[in-house]
Amino acid sequence: MRGTDPFFVFRGDDLLLRKEGNPSLPGADEASLNDLPFLDLRHPDREGLSWAEVPLGTEAPEGMTFVSRRSLWGRLDESLFFLSGKAFHLMDWHRMNRFCGRCGHALADHPEEKALLCSSCDNVVFPVIAPAVIVAVERDGKILLGRSPHFPPGRYSVLAGFVEAGESLETTIIREIREEVGIEVQDIRYFGSQPWPFPRSLMVGFKARWKSGEIAIDGREIVDARWFSPEEMPDFPPSFSIARKLIEDFLKTHDGKGRGLP
Ligand SMILES: [Zn+2]
Repeated sequence: MRGTDPFFVFRGDDLLLRKEGNPSLPGADEASLNDLPFLDLRHPDREGLSWAEVPLGTEAPEGMTFVSRRSLWGRLDESLFFLSGKAFHLMDWHRMNRFCGRCGHALADHPEEKALLCSSCDNVVFPVIAPAVIVAVERDGKILLGRSPHFPPGRYSVLAGFVEAGESLETTIIREIREEVGIEVQDIRYFGSQPWPFPRSLMVGFKARWKSGEIAIDGREIVDARWFSPEEMPDFPPSFSIARKLIEDFLKTHDGKGRGLP
């Protein structure tokens, strides 16, 4: 651990940053952090990350400010953004698992595994990772994009949904697309994946092709959905999300006339 390594201090869902210049993190040796009322402090934790949680309402030290983690998407350097997501995931896992869910005894770090261990009943608790699928569906040179009610005005994106107990990723894709827009898909192909720490997801990206059905939105998770050609694209998510990469991949492989590029 070097003093210049980043120190991730969380207040609820906010992250502590330096005020001046581009968004940047305090270093692990930053003296002004010593007076913060830490609830939990790992400095460093067993993965070499320094992170801590402070109570809601805690004031930022001089020259620093607490910022919503979501607002840093696209503003913080990509590797630092995902490192802060990993630190948040681990911090959140610790704060949500202080006690054994089976017997109520306090949990402690497992001596060998990256896990927590109950010394009373031997229950082992690993970090929970919630997989979700995200899918670019294509039909005749157009891509299916939908609007969630939480999106900024004018924003559309590829459809996504959480994997439920007992499902394969393919089953989730077929169910989600059917539920949200009433469409059947085929030819499902893996695209790539990305951790998504809001708060503990793993987004697994796929491409698929339309099989049958016309768009019929559910009106709840999706308030609008359409087929977009490359020339008529709406506003879509900013850099380095897998949603963005799926949409850029579609644009890169289409010439705008409904044909895939060679
Ligand atoms: Zn127990």
